[in-house]
Amino acid sequence: MYQIDLRGRHALVMGVANHRSLSWAIAQLIAQAGARVCLTYASERLKSSVEELAATLPHAFTTECDVTKDYEIDEVRKKIEGRWGSLEMFVHGIAFARKEDLEGSFVATPREGFQLALDVSAYSFINVTNRVLPLLEKNGASIVTLSYLAANRAVPNYNVMGSAKAVLEQSVRQLAYELGPQRIRVNAISAGPVRTLAARSIAGFTTMEEMFEQRSPLHRHIDSDDVGAAAAYLLSDDAQNVTGTTLYVDSGYHAMGM
Ligand code: NAP
Repeated sequence: MYQIDLRGRHALVMGVANHRSLSWAIAQLIAQAGARVCLTYASERLKSSVEELAATLPHAFTTECDVTKDYEIDEVRKKIEGRWGSLEMFVHGIAFARKEDLEGSFVATPREGFQLALDVSAYSFINVTNRVLPLLEKNGASIVTLSYLAANRAVPNYNVMGSAKAVLEQSVRQLAYELGPQRIRVNAISAGPVRTLAARSIAGFTTMEEMFEQRSPLHRHIDSDDVGAAAAYLLSDDAQNVTGTTLYVDSGYHAMGM
């Protein structure tokens, strides 16, 4: 039987908050395919729940990393270097915007709200990649980040997070170009709505889900395992000639004009 094989590979997976997190679905699938996984969580508050999840995966370990703090990212690199010596996969499943910046008027977005959302949700992708680059370069690697259609369409209430996703997808293309010669591939998955902690902070999320079911060509909700399977493919050698792209896992919703 054909199966994705990630044995002997090491993965940094950022953005696990709980069992609903898209990063957790990815971590589970790539661990099943044989990868060793390092899960990071944003703060002490999440430590015990992420440790509990990690304990269900063979050879996984966890560590704290707030991506707004460079020294915490460097600590992650040092820990991975000490244990594994190389990284063949990096999964970025991190986004944050203040609640008020996702509810009010986009035109009135304050500078601090804009900077914070872009820093956590987009710059962190570039910055973490750069700080773990020596590990990614050793054997070549595949990087995946998580995006949403608001990167290139206007979506009510998505506001500053749409700006962050636009920057994120541009970063995917630019990093793919720059890191290709080092055998590092860089891709994004643009996912349809899935009920996670981050999704709950988007006002009108339920309406978004209803529209999605009505209007997507497949008339079907996606779940976190759909994202996990697409990520496992992009992270594997099956996607060895795929880089700089955004793969839509959204029942075809992005293809519609009405
Ligand atoms: P999630 O479980 O809430 O994951 C988001 C993660 O980002 C959380 O673990 C969160 O930690 C973390 N984070 C926030 N600020 C951080 C910081 N400063 N440092 C480190 N980590 C930080 O929600 P999710 O839906 O799985 O989101 C994962 C990614 O998928 C996001 O980029 C999101 O935009 C994208 N996405 C989601 C959907 C959807 O419908 N769910 C659709 C398309 C794309 P805290 O909980 O501590 O803040």
